[in-house]
Amino acid sequence: MARNLIRKLMKGSHWPKAYIAAIPIWDKKLGLVVVGHIELWLPHEIIDAICDFTDVESFLSKGNIDVEAAARLAKCARELGVPLDELLGIGFWLDGCPCNWDRSQSLETVSLNFPYLGGEDNNFRIPLCGIEKGFVAKGETFDAILEVFTWSLSMLAAKQWPSCRHDGTVWIATDCWRSRKNGSLPLRAVLSEVRGDWQMFKHLLRFPQHNEAAGICFKCRAVLADARRPGTDADWRKPENRLTIWSLIQRMLDKGLLLSPLLSSPCVSVDTFLIDWLHAVDLGVLCDFLGNLFFTLSNTSCTSLIARHELRRFLVWFRIITVGTQRSRTSLTISPPRCFGKMIRPRNLRSFGRRLQKLEG
Ligand SMILES: [Zn+2]
Repeated sequence: MARNLIRKLMKGSHWPKAYIAAIPIWDKKLGLVVVGHIELWLPHEIIDAICDFTDVESFLSKGNIDVEAAARLAKCARELGVPLDELLGIGFWLDGCPCNWDRSQSLETVSLNFPYLGGEDNNFRIPLCGIEKGFVAKGETFDAILEVFTWSLSMLAAKQWPSCRHDGTVWIATDCWRSRKNGSLPLRAVLSEVRGDWQMFKHLLRFPQHNEAAGICFKCRAVLADARRPGTDADWRKPENRLTIWSLIQRMLDKGLLLSPLLSSPCVSVDTFLIDWLHAVDLGVLCDFLGNLFFTLSNTSCTSLIARHELRRFLVWFRIITVGTQRSRTSLTISPPRCFGKMIRPRNLRSFGRRLQKLEG
């Protein structure tokens, strides 16, 4: 039934057929790693399909490019030895999204995006793979998936159709149309951005996490004590303390970690991996900021009864817009008036943000 439905839905589709790869996955029933056949969409085939129905010149236009992004793409163009205006910059987005009613399971995904396109095209995302978290074998499943994508990215950088499968074997029955492709791809592209949350960076790419004694950052030599030194003269900002892709790899090898295949993609560098603003701010930072803001407000010269009254009104308003709107989705165990009395005490203001976070979660 599912197969017939998929066939009907895909009839007349111009998107490429999925590439079926043997990927180690976790078998929940057997409790061991088995080989599964996972469907993946290859970046070089997706871009070829888009070029079939798009003006390549407009696809290459860079309508949304900031200084850092421009420098990143220019560096890639220099490495590949091609003109900048003939190179398409693409991005990968590594993230998980809840996929059932109570959000207890998530689908781990790798999506393709085009960060340099302007307008609405900038939000264009194409999922390349999706696998339920319960089937992910730690350190194995995504290494195998990223190995396939790295092969596809090498083809994009070389602007050539591959002549065999990613592991050097001959085409299989499901690659029938693929095996007939040869010669040049319509355009050259390079992976210039990878975004993800810290969990994806830690588990998929083996970057250090925020509390590791040896180093807490994949872009510099900051250690745990440096986390509270954000000044412009901080040691970790000095050029000699910035990491390159090779010093990062050396640090991983020193720790005995296996390298992610994505690190061997064409033109990849430390700058390719970007800290996603949403994930960096949504848990903790914003709440801490608000807590400290309220604490500062309550200690300023205007801490008269009226000012406190104004602050109280502000807190009530803030609570209504943040927590009150969530009531339809979550059940609150603490009613607003009861916990509000505690929150208004200055010594509790700093943890105000955390309280909100717990209430919302
Ligand atoms: Zn750093």
